[in-house]
Amino acid sequence: MDKNRLNDYIVSHLDEALENGWIRPFFQPIIRTITGGVAAAEALVRWQDPEYGFLMPADFIPVLEEKELIYKVDCHMFIETAKLQRGRLDQGLRVGPISVNFSRSDFDVMDVASFVQEQVEKFHISKELIWLEITESTLVKNKDKMRNVVKALRDEGFQICMDDFGSGYSSLIFLNDYTLDVIKLDMGFLRSFSPVSREIMRSTVNMAKNLGIRTLAEGVEKEEHIRFLEEIGCDLMQGFYYSMPLSVDEMDHYIRRDDVHPESIDWKSFYDAADSHVVNSDVSLGVLEYDGDRDSFHYLFTNQKQKEQLRSIGRRNRRESEFILNSAHYPMHEKFRALIEYAISTGETAVMYFPDNSFFVRLAFRMVVKQEKRVIITSSLVNITEDRTRKTGEILDRSAEDIALLFDDVHILDPDNNTADNVINNFGIDGGMKKHDDLRKGLKAFCRNMVHPEDRERYMLYADPDTMKDRLHGAPGGILREYFRILRPTASGELEFSWMEIDLLLIPRTDDSKILSCIKNAQPSSGLGPEDMVNLEKPQQ
Ligand code: C2E
Ligand code: MG
Ligand code: MG
Repeated sequence: MDKNRLNDYIVSHLDEALENGWIRPFFQPIIRTITGGVAAAEALVRWQDPEYGFLMPADFIPVLEEKELIYKVDCHMFIETAKLQRGRLDQGLRVGPISVNFSRSDFDVMDVASFVQEQVEKFHISKELIWLEITESTLVKNKDKMRNVVKALRDEGFQICMDDFGSGYSSLIFLNDYTLDVIKLDMGFLRSFSPVSREIMRSTVNMAKNLGIRTLAEGVEKEEHIRFLEEIGCDLMQGFYYSMPLSVDEMDHYIRRDDVHPESIDWKSFYDAADSHVVNSDVSLGVLEYDGDRDSFHYLFTNQKQKEQLRSIGRRNRRESEFILNSAHYPMHEKFRALIEYAISTGETAVMYFPDNSFFVRLAFRMVVKQEKRVIITSSLVNITEDRTRKTGEILDRSAEDIALLFDDVHILDPDNNTADNVINNFGIDGGMKKHDDLRKGLKAFCRNMVHPEDRERYMLYADPDTMKDRLHGAPGGILREYFRILRPTASGELEFSWMEIDLLLIPRTDDSKILSCIKNAQPSSGLGPEDMVNLEKPQQ
């Protein structure tokens, strides 16, 4: 094909091609990494010419850019996209954002901000339904001007993607000059997929996350790309692995496929909030989704640190953890559920300690966002076995799993050294005593935060570390037992006082220097008969 002849043809037939619909958008799906759903699409121009056949952007964009005529194509693409979105909304279909490309010269020959504003008003579509893609080179070379343009567009409510990030000479410092919504990592990084390019992607994603900017990887073609992007926490993916750019009809067909899940714009901020927590730092982290309709949990992400921690307690992968959360047959299932419900109803970090496969584990949940019946929760799971004193470990090793099911809180108290060593804490609240806490301070805090006001005086006498040993020596069997009303999360997650039994006993072979304190539910369901409740010297509830 004679390039010069084609270039002349393109310039002279541009208007005709636009009028006759030879120039049309194709759409390439954009996938949200954590869900695998189609979160957006990019509009890519195609020229179906009666004389030259199917023309790709590389055949006609350079010459139109050179002649500063590309704005005609870009305006047409924007209008066609707006029209499509309007049509889909009218049909009541699930609609996600579509990004449209703008060339550098567009910003010289027209007022892009006014144009896009007029069009969304004309078609009555929300601005979040069309993203604008501007290449890195446009932003770098026209910095002063583009800063104002980008700001104006964002102020109006449009989302801006920086296209082909890393293809030019930009440095990360450059991001200081702009507030952007999405960085599209140039497909050159995945093409080479070398240790260096992987490291650049990893640090770009981390940095963008810290700045609150989402990241999209272009040119995803292989499964190993996906695994890597999942690991580093890249938010969005686009490439032939998922789909080529598709015509409108093909796209319709694609999103109806059983294995394709289009994400509606209504859920965008929900999953964006989840994405903002997907960080591959060295702190153990998982991101979970709870689906209230199915009453099931599903891991969206686990970082390397959390995977290591899971492996260290003999859990092979996150699917196994997911199974435990979803399977009512697993003994700890109810306690995990109660902990999550507590985290959801209070918005607080809910913490518990429990033994698993003869390791001690600290598990914390925190709610990120809730919409309708779905909730995003972060989890932190840390194997704390290594931190624990050996003696405590030996004492509790064998019966540990049973104790965790029986008791809500187990502490080893050392009144002489004023320490409280936490063994099990199912209270779901960090407000109780923590490991190696200051015993006297911890008891006071527990009394103040957790114990019913009418029981507080009696509790302080019972838990008095200065007299505890003497009282235990005098007690039959060396065991003390009393009942108190203590704040507990109910099944629905609300806090409520319920009767709890607190047992104190001297730990053998510690020269009477250590005392085991165990707290458990005193409701009849725990095996305690009603007659036990009547014997209690306390005002009835
Ligand atoms: P881009 O905006 O970076 O678009 C991505 C390009 O990568 C598209 O090429 C797409 O088909 C291609 N691509 C997507 N996934 C893969 C993959 O997995 N492997 C490989 N090798 N390629 C992949 P396309 O459609 O040929 O567009 C090329 C460029 O032309 C675009 O790069 C964009 O800069 C420009 N362009 C396309 N449409 C428009 C438009 O409407 N206006 C303007 N100004 N530029 C456009
Ligand atoms: Mg693009
Ligand atoms: Mg690109």
